[in-house]
Amino acid sequence: MDRRKFCKTTVAAAIAAATPVITACGEKAKVAAEAEASIRAVSLNGGEIELTKAMIRELGDAMTGPVILSEHPEYEGSRKIWNGMHDKHPALIARCLSSRDVAQAVNFARDHGLLTAIRGGGHSWPGKSMCDDGIVVDLSHMTNVEIDTGNKIGMTAGGALLGNLDDAALAKGLVTTAGVVSHTGVGGYTTGGGFGRLNRKYGLTIDNLVGAEIVTADGQIRYVSAEEEPDLFWAIRGGGGNFGAVTQFDFQLHDFDRNVLSGMIVWPIEQAREVLEFYADWQGSLSREMYTGPAMITHPEAGHVIAMEVVYNGDPTQGEKELAPLRAIGKPIADGVIVQDYKVLQTHEDGAVAHGIRSYAKNAMIGEFTQELVDDMVDAYIADPRAGIFTHTCGGAVADYGATDTAFPHRDTQTMIVFFTGWMDPAEDEVGKQMCRDWHAALEHHSLGYYDNIEQEGDTRVARNFGPNFARLREIKAQYDPGNQFRLNSNIEPA
Ligand code: FAD
Repeated sequence: MDRRKFCKTTVAAAIAAATPVITACGEKAKVAAEAEASIRAVSLNGGEIELTKAMIRELGDAMTGPVILSEHPEYEGSRKIWNGMHDKHPALIARCLSSRDVAQAVNFARDHGLLTAIRGGGHSWPGKSMCDDGIVVDLSHMTNVEIDTGNKIGMTAGGALLGNLDDAALAKGLVTTAGVVSHTGVGGYTTGGGFGRLNRKYGLTIDNLVGAEIVTADGQIRYVSAEEEPDLFWAIRGGGGNFGAVTQFDFQLHDFDRNVLSGMIVWPIEQAREVLEFYADWQGSLSREMYTGPAMITHPEAGHVIAMEVVYNGDPTQGEKELAPLRAIGKPIADGVIVQDYKVLQTHEDGAVAHGIRSYAKNAMIGEFTQELVDDMVDAYIADPRAGIFTHTCGGAVADYGATDTAFPHRDTQTMIVFFTGWMDPAEDEVGKQMCRDWHAALEHHSLGYYDNIEQEGDTRVARNFGPNFARLREIKAQYDPGNQFRLNSNIEPA
């Protein structure tokens, strides 16, 4: 639906153009709320809703951050998210600067029955942090991270990026598991689970979450932990954005030497079978310090390659010993494994997947890295520079939790294979998507489920994917979000 069609009259359109932003910082004169103008928006079930200027002004008055409407100079920038394929036009963007702002925006959305998106870092592959004609509860300006060095806790605002968390923690000689691209948001990443280069040692990011502040659909600001509202705390550790907008994550941090043995070993794709067969045997014997998994990609200079990323979180001398058998496989064309700053590692993919790329992704949680999987990986390889696969290695501390200990159920898997395609030209959208689907389809029968956070088309399989946790998640959803206000996610319908 084109929200520009919603301006009922030319008078309304003129007023909307002249009054693009509503703030509560002494600039409310910008709002012509006394005018009999309104904007149209969309309800939770797709119906049309009229929002008068007075209503919007009331929200603006209640918030410290601005309410951004379509004609505001920051509207275009604020509606953009990472994946350039998603070009959505919300009716209004409530840019929150505090938990109280988030509560005001949620109350407004609920009271008016508005379609509601929660935006953290904006990395949602399927674009669920933005919506057409609804309200966006935008946390992207809430990025503060404070470190309690005594208790080794990282208090991280709900819109922070992983880079903000890494920077603040590393500066104090501390760390927790964070994903592989620093411009990913802590919000969506954590509520979905959180895989990263340290997860074999420290577990998923949710395993390091000791508490969180969350605004639920009733507008309440709650603190949840193992002691306080434990069901809700359980649900946000893997259940995604279904239960509210998390305004603060409190992470357990760990002492960390940021100089880690790490980097890539690269072989021509013709050696893929040899490398993968070795990996299938070797992987089960890895120490928790060692994180390594294959990627099949096109390198700008080396062409089609199989690569292994290596990160050893421990004494590099010990790491060299553990790595030696991998280094002896085949004839690598490059071996970039050196002792280097962890922060270099955590940012070195940032440019390759910069904002604006058009991208599609699917994934498969693999129980066991079998010979049949190796055969299929070799046979299904797509030699196209727009396509690639990489892996997140599980096991180790990830498997210290059982399937029902947190809402994230896939604890007994060895690996996650991520299939991704990326391109810039909109004319390639269909080809790009289909290539990813085809590659995934060739390997999907090896999977036990999928990781919600990296999935374009998961919604029809939500029940199966949450497995033993689905019924409990639905009960908790019914308690905290009975109207399914937060539905732009891998949606769990209230029981
Ligand atoms: P957004 O697009 O802002 O939000 C996505 C969804 O998360 C929203 O629709 C909402 O439902 C929910 N959400 C966001 N913020 C909050 C909040 N504060 N409270 C409650 N709900 C919220 N995942 C990994 O595990 N490991 C990786 O290494 C990894 N690498 C990635 C690299 C790239 C380039 C991309 C695009 C994704 C990667 N992901 C990875 C997946 C990533 O975890 C998800 O895309 C995640 O949803 C991104 O979070 P965000 O806050 O940036 O997303």
